[in-house]
Amino acid sequence: MTARQMPSFVPDRGSFVRCKRCHEQFFFVETVKNKRMPVDVAPASDGNLIIHKRGPDEEGNPRLPFGSVVSGLQAEGMREAGIRLYVSHFRDCPYAEEFRKKARSRGTWRRNR
Ligand SMILES: [Zn+2]
Repeated sequence: MTARQMPSFVPDRGSFVRCKRCHEQFFFVETVKNKRMPVDVAPASDGNLIIHKRGPDEEGNPRLPFGSVVSGLQAEGMREAGIRLYVSHFRDCPYAEEFRKKARSRGTWRRNR
């Protein structure tokens, strides 16, 4: 498979969540540490997250897409190959610090879905 044929991740509109504070839309991904992370729905020209769709778990439950951070150099190569990269909603959300505090006091930050 050449890089050109490599499919870019497109988030499922049904999974979009609206930020309660800044009202932008995002979707959740799971990171290497099994943590949920909100990601802006639009790919960013200076993004640093590569997202992969995943199939259901052993019990057939749908799983969140998997997101991992790439280095600047990797990001450059991926952009050249036409792969879409995303950014954490926390990067631009003016209330990110508030969410982080909440997440710490509750253990994890969960949305009911
Ligand atoms: Zn926000």
